Amino acid sequence: MTDELESARSESGDPLLLTPGPLTTSLTVKQAMLHDYGSRDADFIELNARLLKRLVAIVNGGGSHVCVPLQGSGTFVVEAMIGNFVPAAGKLLILINGAYGQRIAKICDYYRRSYAVQETPEDVPVDCTALDAALDADPDITHVVVVHCETTSGILNPIGEVAKIVARHRRKLLIDSMSAFGALPLDADEVEFDAVVASSNKCLEGAPGIGFCVAREAALAMTEGNSPSLALDLYDQWRAMQKNRQWRFTPPTHVLLAFDQALTEFEEEGGVAGRGARYRANCELLVSGMRAMGFETLLPDELQAPIIITFRMPTNPEFDFAAFYDGLKDQGYVIYPGKLTVADSFRMGCIGRLEREQMQGALDAVARMLDRFGIARIENQPR
Ligand SMILES: *Cc1c(COP(=O)(O)O)cnc(C)c1O
Repeated sequence: MTDELESARSESGDPLLLTPGPLTTSLTVKQAMLHDYGSRDADFIELNARLLKRLVAIVNGGGSHVCVPLQGSGTFVVEAMIGNFVPAAGKLLILINGAYGQRIAKICDYYRRSYAVQETPEDVPVDCTALDAALDADPDITHVVVVHCETTSGILNPIGEVAKIVARHRRKLLIDSMSAFGALPLDADEVEFDAVVASSNKCLEGAPGIGFCVAREAALAMTEGNSPSLALDLYDQWRAMQKNRQWRFTPPTHVLLAFDQALTEFEEEGGVAGRGARYRANCELLVSGMRAMGFETLLPDELQAPIIITFRMPTNPEFDFAAFYDGLKDQGYVIYPGKLTVADSFRMGCIGRLEREQMQGALDAVARMLDRFGIARIENQPR
């Protein structure tokens, strides 16, 4: 890089994260953490109550749904959802088209929950016809779990259609909406589910450290004694918080302060509609700019969620991914390696505190790298 080229930075002076999380957060979200709260502080207790209500409102679940928070990364609350909602005598059908679906099967192995999987390739949405047939064929299946946006590829799964089929068969639906919650619409009045889980640090743009489960209250009330784990017992956390409005174990106070501020900024942006629109604009700019240089997306536009985009690894012999990654990092843009089995690839995210200017900056940085490699245009393996 030329010396005079200044690398891009977030408001707090850090490289920009074009990743699936943790993500670039606003300065004000980070500043909200500059306070120490005791877990019994009245203001802190008030903040918790307000926060949980706001999370329920995002899926329009007021009156019917409740939110239970949990310390930890997203996987902790996915595991909690499985352990709480699928009873020992139940059977879970896992719809898989990526690593996060695979992880749920692994959780079932640890918990010795019985399950079946229905798998499609990473670039194919979950198969609703096969789901319908599987529920017809296997009366033992009590629950179905689906990943809203499979972050492995960035593919959008047909959550509404899946929910209809599951409801028609009178089974229960669980949703991992980790990378979609807050950016892609999910309305509890339209999509019937028992539980959906997400975390503080993806599309809601808070700091990492909190997962949460929005559950149908009547369904959660039936889960007493199901959890094989004490720390991940959502039912117990819920009841304890109903009783004294406090977390059972040390709450991540700073992360909660940041999360509350992040939700204020989310609401100021226009909620799901506003945030989703910004991410869609980011995604469109990134995809069209990359395609103009010759890069190919793994997914056709109609399957692409505006969250993270998978690009096929170029076949130009001059293209060196390690140097590409490092060169982008030097210019202030952190991208993400691929995690696919179907194709050699890398990923670029368009979520977090990123706007048009940052996406354009990332495209300019990519163009500079191609220049440096002496590549006029990206080539791809014929398919
Ligand atoms: C990020 C993510 C998770 C949780 O991952 P953690 O690294 O534990 O936060 C789970 N499911 C999906 C779809 C995700 O994108």
